[in-house]
Amino acid sequence: MQKRIYLDNNATTMVDPKVKELMEPFFCEHYGNPNSLHKFGTEIHPAISDAFNKLYEGINAQNEDDVIITSCATESNNWVLKGVYFDKIYTGEKNHIITTEVEHPAVGATCRFLETLGVKVTYLPINKEGTISAQQVREAITPKTALVSIMWANNETGLIFPIEEIGAICKEAGILFHTDAVQAIGKIPVDVVKANVDFLSFSAHKFHGPKGIGALYIRKGVELTPLLHGGEHMRGRRSGTLNVPYIIGMGEAMKLASQGLDYEYKVVAKLRDKLEDALLKIDDVFVIGDRAHRVPNTTLISVRGIEGEAMLWDLNKSGIAASTGSACASEDLEANPVMVAIGADKELAHTAIRLSLSRFNTEEEIDYTIDVFKKAIERLRNISSSYRA
Ligand code: PLP
Repeated sequence: MQKRIYLDNNATTMVDPKVKELMEPFFCEHYGNPNSLHKFGTEIHPAISDAFNKLYEGINAQNEDDVIITSCATESNNWVLKGVYFDKIYTGEKNHIITTEVEHPAVGATCRFLETLGVKVTYLPINKEGTISAQQVREAITPKTALVSIMWANNETGLIFPIEEIGAICKEAGILFHTDAVQAIGKIPVDVVKANVDFLSFSAHKFHGPKGIGALYIRKGVELTPLLHGGEHMRGRRSGTLNVPYIIGMGEAMKLASQGLDYEYKVVAKLRDKLEDALLKIDDVFVIGDRAHRVPNTTLISVRGIEGEAMLWDLNKSGIAASTGSACASEDLEANPVMVAIGADKELAHTAIRLSLSRFNTEEEIDYTIDVFKKAIERLRNISSSYRA
């Protein structure tokens, strides 16, 4: 049987079987609506509140804070940006948002949409190391700044942004601070108190929970106009009947993610480093970003002379799933946007391959990947007209 090796965990992850098991009874046995007054509804309450407690604990949210269930991080990100627009910009109080050039499109495209409504947006450029500094944020703040929205870790490079420092700056300046923590949860510790965030987005399917469910953390006392009006679900903040099995799954996935952080550093990072070290021995192979500043599972690798898509195709033929960038951008053949932002030359920007591991990968899989990768480089460079060693 052909091997199937999944190294695209920043795109999505396998649902942990323990998560699936816990969700199972909530489809055909306990399927009531938790807002109903009868037993079918009320019998679900303990499981729901258990799931919320796991979500609170996972990000160190306090009891009075809110964690609002959404359909995905795309919704959470849209909600923050559009909500702040209605609360602070539409009213004429403020007119400015600060973000980075390398946010996921769920933030980037929403900011561009808000620009069409007259909002001024500063897109902070990343430096040669692939990150931004807190000082850049400080310098971009104006009296009209309504919101700073900066990701915790980048989906392509895995590079971690200085969220705690930025949080402190925003707090001092009295500016709302949102972070997209989609690629941080389950990989590095995420603590909303230490980071001083007002809003934080996450998505269950990036940490071995189900797809189609996410959340927005909202700090106690912070108002945000709802994106979805309707019934009084989630205390009127986000309407729509609760997706009970998925909430329970996301809670359990968060619990397992928090418990597994040590394993990410001790085992997953070691496997990633082994893979990286082996590939870096080959001429003209580069890894983007300093290891110490990356989440433990991610490597963005560049192989001069080989288009990322060609490499992806070779890996895929051998049963290995990787990516040339974020999943949503991988169907077009544009240069990797983060590579462009880092200042990589045009040719190199087309060679990026992202390998993202998870706790389900084994050393045997990594050894096999190294072998396949080396052979693919040799084969593709041999037929490449542009590559000369
Ligand atoms: N933010 C980041 C950093 C991501 O990597 C992704 C997905 O790749 C998202 C947001 C969007 O998540 P979802 O597709 O679950 O809405």
